[in-house]
Amino acid sequence: MTGAGRGPLRFTARRLRSVADALRRAGAALLLTAEVALGLGLGVGLAIAPSAWAHESGERQLDTELAQWERTGYNEPHEALKALQTLRNSRAEAGHPDHLLRIDYTIGRVQAIAGDMEEARRWADQLEQRDGGRPLALLLRAEVQDRSGQPVKAGELAQQALSQLEPGCPQESAPLQIGPRCDWRSTYTALRIVARAQGARGEPASAEVRLLRALDLAQSAADTYATLIVMSQLATNAQDMDQPAQAQHWMNQALQLAQGDVGATVRMRIVESSMAALRNDTKAQLALLEDGLRLAAHTTARREVASMQASLADAYMHTHQPARAAMLARQALPVVQEFGDQKLERTLRHNLSVSLVLLRQFDAARREINRVIELARGDNDAVRRILQLRELGEAYAAVNQPREALRLYHEERTLSAETAQRKRESALRQLGQKYDSEARQRDLELARRQQALQSQELTNRRLAQYVGVGLAVLLGMSVVLMGVMLMRVRDTNKRLKANQSLLRAQSERDPLTELANRRHFLAVMEREAGDAFHGALLMIDIDHFKQVNDRHGHAAGDMVIREISRRISAAVRSDDLVVRWGGEEFLVFAPSVAPSALQHLAERILAGVGSQPVPIPDGQLRVTASIGYAHFPLAPAHLPQHWEQAVNWADMALYTAKSQGRNRAHGIEAVQADDAQALSRVETDFEAACSRGLVRLQTLLGPEEAVPQPSCA
Ligand code: GH3
Ligand code: MG
Ligand code: MG
Repeated sequence: MTGAGRGPLRFTARRLRSVADALRRAGAALLLTAEVALGLGLGVGLAIAPSAWAHESGERQLDTELAQWERTGYNEPHEALKALQTLRNSRAEAGHPDHLLRIDYTIGRVQAIAGDMEEARRWADQLEQRDGGRPLALLLRAEVQDRSGQPVKAGELAQQALSQLEPGCPQESAPLQIGPRCDWRSTYTALRIVARAQGARGEPASAEVRLLRALDLAQSAADTYATLIVMSQLATNAQDMDQPAQAQHWMNQALQLAQGDVGATVRMRIVESSMAALRNDTKAQLALLEDGLRLAAHTTARREVASMQASLADAYMHTHQPARAAMLARQALPVVQEFGDQKLERTLRHNLSVSLVLLRQFDAARREINRVIELARGDNDAVRRILQLRELGEAYAAVNQPREALRLYHEERTLSAETAQRKRESALRQLGQKYDSEARQRDLELARRQQALQSQELTNRRLAQYVGVGLAVLLGMSVVLMGVMLMRVRDTNKRLKANQSLLRAQSERDPLTELANRRHFLAVMEREAGDAFHGALLMIDIDHFKQVNDRHGHAAGDMVIREISRRISAAVRSDDLVVRWGGEEFLVFAPSVAPSALQHLAERILAGVGSQPVPIPDGQLRVTASIGYAHFPLAPAHLPQHWEQAVNWADMALYTAKSQGRNRAHGIEAVQADDAQALSRVETDFEAACSRGLVRLQTLLGPEEAVPQPSCA
C-alpha cells in the first residue's frame, strides 16, 4: 500500500506548481521561479488551496463534459464536434495546454467514432507533436484501428499508450486513489482496447486481467457509465472463457447501473443478446434485440438501431431465415457505412454473405465474402475469422456445395489449431504470473505436463477426427461419384438407345405413307428369314397409276397413294407388315397366315382398295390394284428359298395379274419342282412354266371385274 502515501504528496506538489503558474502569470515571475514556489513548502500550498481545488474540480468537470460529448458523438457526431470546437475555443483563451490536449484527443476520437478515420489520424498527428500528447496520439491511432475492424493492431498501439499512461496511475488494487498524474480515462480506454485485442486473439484470460484493472479505475473515478461498459465487456469475456455464471454476474451488475439510462440500456441489450447468441439461446437473443430496437426507436440513436438490425440479421441468419437476415443487413449497411464502422460492416457483410449462400445467390455471396476479406486485410482476428469460416462452410454444406464447404472446413481447422495453441500459452503465462517461486515452479511443471498431455490428446483426437472426416468424405464422395457415374452411363445409354431407335424408326419409315419402307423390310428379313423364308408375301401395285398423275396432278397422286396404303393396312392383321415397296407398289409380309387363309387376305385387300372410290381435290377416283401372292415354302415340295427369291415369286405372280387385265390377284398355289434346280428353272422362265402347267395359279377378281380369265398367260 505504498502508493496510498504517495498520492497526497504528489497532490500538494501539484498545487504548489499551480501557484507558481498563477504568480508567473501575475508578473511576480520576475522574482519567483516555479522551483522557488515549490520551495515555499506546505504552508503556502495550503494557503492557496481553494484555487487549486477549483482547478482540480474544473478538470473533473471537463472530463465529465468530454465523456458526455463522446457519448453524444456516437449517434450525433456533428452536434458533438460543434460543441467540442466551441469548448476548445473557450479553453484556448484560458490557456490550459493539458485541457486542450484532452479536448483535441476527444475531437479526434469523435471523428473516429463518426467514421472519419482520415480526420482522426490528422488529430493524432497533431497530438504527437505536442508536449505530453504522445500517449493520447497512440491511443487515438489505436481507436482508429479498432474501429476499422483491426483489433489486434489496435491492441499493439493501445499497449504502447498504456506503457506511458500506466505509471501515472496507482498500481495497487481498489479502492484506488486517483491522483492528478493519473489520466484514468485514457488508461481505461487503452486497457479495454488491449483486452479486446487479446480476446480477439483467443486469450480471454489475459483480457480479463486488463478489464479488471479498467473496472478498478472506472469505479475509483465513480464513473457509472464507464463502469457499466467495462462490466459488460467483462461479461462477454467471461462468456468467452466458458464461464456463463460469471458472465451473468457481470451482466446483472451492469444492468443495475444502466437503470434509468435508455442509451445505456440499449447498449446492454446488444451485449446481452450477443451473449445469448454465444449460449445458442436464439429465442432470448431475438427477444432482447426486439426489446432493444423498441427502446432505441424512442431515441435519436440511428446508429444503435442499425447495430440492432445488424444483430437481428445475425440472429435471423442463425435461425435459418436468410431472406429476412439479408433484408435487415441491407437496411443497416448504409448507416453503418455512413459512420464508417468497418468492424460492424464486416460482421454485416459476413452475415449477408452467409444468407446469400443459403439463398443460393452464389455470385452475390462471393462478392460479399471478398468484401469481408478486404475489410479484414492485415488483421488477424482469428476468433472471428474461425466463426465466419465455420458459418460459411455450414451454409455451403446446407445448400449442397460440398467442395466449397470442405475447403472452408480445412481453413477453419488450421486457424483453430493455431488459436488453441495461443490460448493455452496465454493461460500458462497467466499461471506464471499468478504463482510465486516454489509453488509456482511446481504448478508450472504440473501445468506444463498437463498441457503436454492435453495437447497430445488434442492432437490424437484431431488426428482421429481428421482421419474419420477424411475417410467419411472420401467414402461418401466415391459412393456419390460412382452413383452419379452409373446414373449418367445408364442415362446416356438409355438416351442413345432411344435416339437409335428413333433414328432407325425414322430411316425405316416412308414419310408419305408412314408405312415401313424397303430398308425396314430388309432389316426384318436379315434378322428373321435368311435362306429359308417362311410365311406369305403379297406384292400389290396400283393399276394405271401414271394416268392419275397425268390427269389430276402429282398431289392428287400422292393422296391416292396415301389412301391406298391406309386401305391396305386396314385389310391386314396386326402382325402383318405392310411395306411401301416402291412408287405405287406395296408388299405385305404375313408371317403367320395359314396357306388356306391367304386367299381371304388377298380378297380383303382387293376389295379394300377397289370397292370405294378415292376422294381427290377435283372429285372422286375409281382406283384398283393388282396383286401377286404366294405362301412359302412353296407347295407341294416345300423347298427352302431365300427371301429375295420369295419376293421374286410374288412379283412374277403380280406380273401375270397385270398382263391378264389388272384389278385382280394371282396366287401361286403349287409349283411342280422336286428339287432346287427344277424350282430355279421355273423361276427363270415363269411364263413358260405357267403355260406348261408346272405352276398352279389361283385368280381372284377385284370389285366389278366381270370377266374371268385363264390363270396363266
Ligand atoms: P400399271 O397398271 O402397269 O402399274 O401402270 P402404272 O401407270 O401404274 O405403272 P407405271 O410404272 O408406268 O407408272 C407408275 C407411276 O407412278 C410413275 C411415277 O411417276 C408414279 N409415281 C411413283 N412414285 C410416286 C409418288 O410418290 N407420287 C406420285 N404422285 N407418283 C408417283
Ligand atoms: Mg408399278
Ligand atoms: Mg402401277
